[in-house]
Amino acid sequence: MTGWRLTFSGFDPEAQGLREALSATGNGYFVTRGAPTFARADGVHYPATYLAGGYNRLTSDVGGREVENEDLVNLPNWLPLVIRLDDGSWLEAGELDILEQVHELDLQEGILHRRLRISDRRGRILQWRERRFVSMACHHLAAVELRLTPENWSGRLSVRSAIDGTVTNDGVARYRKLASRHHEPVETRTIGDDIILLRSRFVTSRQEMVMAARTRITRHALGAKIESAFETREAEIAQVVSLPVRAGEEVAIEKIAALYTSRDNAVAEPGLAAVADLEQMRGFEDMARAHRLAWAHLWNVFNLEISTSIDHDADMKLRLSIFHLLQTSSPHSVDLDVGVPARGWHGEAYRGHIFWDELFIFPFINLRMPVITRALLLYRYRRLPEARRAARRAGCAGAMFPWQSGSDGREETQLLHLNPLSQRWLPDVSHRQRHVNAAILFNIWHYFQVTEDYEFLSVYGAELMIEITRFWTTLAQYDTARGRYSIQGVMGPDEFHTAPPGKSPEEACGIANNAYTNILVAWGIARTLDVIDMLPVAERTRLCEALDISQSEIEHWHDVSRKLFVPFHGDGIISQFEGYEDLEELDWRHYRAQHANVQRLDRILEAEGSNPNRYKISKQADVLMLLFLFSMEELKDIFDQLGYEFSPEVIARNIEYYTERTSHGSTLSWVVHAWVLSRRDRLGSWRLFERALNSDFHDLQGGTTAEGIHLGAMAGTVDIIQRCYTGAEVRANMLSFNPLLPEELECLRTTYHYRGHTLDVTITRDTLEVASRTCSAAPILISYRNHIRRMSPGQTFRFRLLHPRATALHQPLADPATTKGDAR
Ligand code: BGC
Repeated sequence: MTGWRLTFSGFDPEAQGLREALSATGNGYFVTRGAPTFARADGVHYPATYLAGGYNRLTSDVGGREVENEDLVNLPNWLPLVIRLDDGSWLEAGELDILEQVHELDLQEGILHRRLRISDRRGRILQWRERRFVSMACHHLAAVELRLTPENWSGRLSVRSAIDGTVTNDGVARYRKLASRHHEPVETRTIGDDIILLRSRFVTSRQEMVMAARTRITRHALGAKIESAFETREAEIAQVVSLPVRAGEEVAIEKIAALYTSRDNAVAEPGLAAVADLEQMRGFEDMARAHRLAWAHLWNVFNLEISTSIDHDADMKLRLSIFHLLQTSSPHSVDLDVGVPARGWHGEAYRGHIFWDELFIFPFINLRMPVITRALLLYRYRRLPEARRAARRAGCAGAMFPWQSGSDGREETQLLHLNPLSQRWLPDVSHRQRHVNAAILFNIWHYFQVTEDYEFLSVYGAELMIEITRFWTTLAQYDTARGRYSIQGVMGPDEFHTAPPGKSPEEACGIANNAYTNILVAWGIARTLDVIDMLPVAERTRLCEALDISQSEIEHWHDVSRKLFVPFHGDGIISQFEGYEDLEELDWRHYRAQHANVQRLDRILEAEGSNPNRYKISKQADVLMLLFLFSMEELKDIFDQLGYEFSPEVIARNIEYYTERTSHGSTLSWVVHAWVLSRRDRLGSWRLFERALNSDFHDLQGGTTAEGIHLGAMAGTVDIIQRCYTGAEVRANMLSFNPLLPEELECLRTTYHYRGHTLDVTITRDTLEVASRTCSAAPILISYRNHIRRMSPGQTFRFRLLHPRATALHQPLADPATTKGDAR
């Protein structure tokens, strides 16, 4: 393992699914898992290719009930390259012995290398060198090259290069009883001597896609007689090439694939476009050169380097996270009208849906390439009409975005979910997590803070914020006795609590006054009011007229933003929701003794006939999300706005209280806990950071990574380095820093894009250096603690850090007089 290479040695059937997900290659338009070219879905391997936003709906029968789901579709497989030695059988995965294997993903170049020694049943050995990539330069293209050397035999080698349209969605065991045949073949055909093409259609959305491939032998013995033939079936097309080979002599084969769909821009017809690309493409090496360059340009922008005394692979694991982030959302996604899915376009878990996980993903992209986050926000904007309809159906005004979103923005949360422990299908009411709307508003505000993109704000952002605000301010009901507004019937991020205790799963009516939701909403309404004030008069008038906003409605928003109810209990503990303090304590010791893993306590409790609603437990950070999203000063402002006492001392108690009661059943939870501990328990924070960093790498979520990476945790982990340990904050038109590196981190180097500046930031134990590269942007304000500098392009500022010691969250900042900030 080096800083840029993810290496797996040997063949391990148990780990194969994980390796395929971690070594998937993609470009933000499509992603192909790192399965061998000679494998089919067989319970060990799962070769699959997914298109960004490539969804289709199907109806299934679950226990006599019709259930409709929209799924990310497993597309026809372009990988197959299967070999045959003389007249033996085709050496698919079950037919060959793997004697040696090294499977290595080069993160810098975006190329997957596989080096194998394989043998057939007669002991004929072949060396197999493979390189593969999904092009970051030409987003419709992918390529694979095989270099094969017979070791102990000479004879005829045949290679069958296919496109397999028989594949179905079969990647998640829990979904196997659901309908899975999402596409049907429309056409298979050949073009010229070396191109095969398969056209298929999603059965419900009717979207057509064309997968085409060109296969060529590029190295062979002089004068070798090469034979080629096509095989055409209804849902599969193949080309078989064969040639004589001699022991010790290498032959090379390359396959270039093109994927186009009927939704693509600038295309007359997907088949024509695919064939045109393949006919013009020179070859693997040329494509690889452009691909490497595209990755080099991306790494230049998304660079992050750390040096740590502890985990020598930490650098590589961070890059792996950034790599998968960029394979999911890249400059190629910008024109696609897609969101960023919780599990990447890497597998079928959560059906490729878009959740609130964006909240964890946006910050990293915002500070690098905000054109991508802008596009992700436009995905929401285009679904505003559907969100408006959803709000109406819920009896509210404005717009209510769904918990899970897919193609058209309707609520895609499944109605039933399977508890694999009890094998019972249970009602799924997680759609009650309306807080996703607050997250969208939060993201718009922060996108604007980083970019000052007034154009976006006035054309799209303000309308989104206003409509979300309207939803919340009509959902919130005034409680006269309390003199405050209440939000009922929701769920917080903690998915263990779906109702007050005593309700059956069918009666999961949500909980009241989730503190996280209410506080974030109060903050969000205030930002919407800020935006209305900030807009130029003409824009404000246009929006108020178009959206029919009256002065009295604005006053109502003000009122709600100041009077939302926040429940507290005990000694300054923010109650996760109203009534939380009356729940029973769980005997954690008992459950930890009984179960190796208690992350999914909900499943354990349900399987034993109990119900998580009874207990003071959390699947993931809920109240503590507030400390993840807001600095101490911001939280104090929000509590002031709401008229609640806020004393920073109680924060430590809240952290302790909820840490003891959280099972971390979501990878997002480790990120949040690592974050909130960063300034009061640096070692504890680092341990959780490592867990988040390893969550996919070591598949810590109980074997779920094979079904898709956890993108929120990946991005969140990178963001811990980028914003948490650097104390970087974008607020009040300023980029502020307040670094506190964990003991384990010696140095950190990264690059931010902020309001037109490219800033190279280096932090050591003693210094913070911020250097703006030459450009023509207007000066910006940067600060270290309360030392503010006006920075012009080309300038560098270096600050000597205050004594870097663990500062409890509640301690006042150290005496600024001891700080030395100097410009050079
Ligand atoms: C978490 C949610 C998250 C979803 C998708 C769930 O397990 O509880 O917070 O949005 O996974 O990542």
